[in-house]
Amino acid sequence: MKNTGSCLCKQVTFEVTKFQGPIGHCHCTMCQKFHGAAFSTFVEAKECDLIWLSGEELLTLYCAENDSIRTFCRCCGSSLLFQSKYNRQEQTIEIALAAFDSLNSIRVDAHIYTESKADWYDINDNLPQHRRYRR
Ligand SMILES: [Zn+2]
Ligand SMILES: [Zn+2]
Repeated sequence: MKNTGSCLCKQVTFEVTKFQGPIGHCHCTMCQKFHGAAFSTFVEAKECDLIWLSGEELLTLYCAENDSIRTFCRCCGSSLLFQSKYNRQEQTIEIALAAFDSLNSIRVDAHIYTESKADWYDINDNLPQHRRYRR
């Protein structure tokens, strides 16, 4: 099965040929704002393994104070990508897991940045919790 995804308006579509690294639910305040949700879940890939199938011209970049870049669809506002300074050095990028329409089995293995978890959301699973990033 191919790992393919799209934004809400379906104009932006992409494929990821290979994933890297572990996947965490991120409870940092920037992810909360970007997704409009209690937390975000991004999966990492090498930049060269992310292929745009359509709508690349609709991608809009927001550069935050900490030098991380977040990418969304200009038409529908879907949150799609995250790239920190560290990601850029490593030529990796993080893709919002919820944007995928078809996905090979993948496991989320931790909660990160729980120090800023939303008060109105309770973590009710047994995944390890890290107050900040995991190391
Ligand atoms: Zn869109
Ligand atoms: Zn975050």
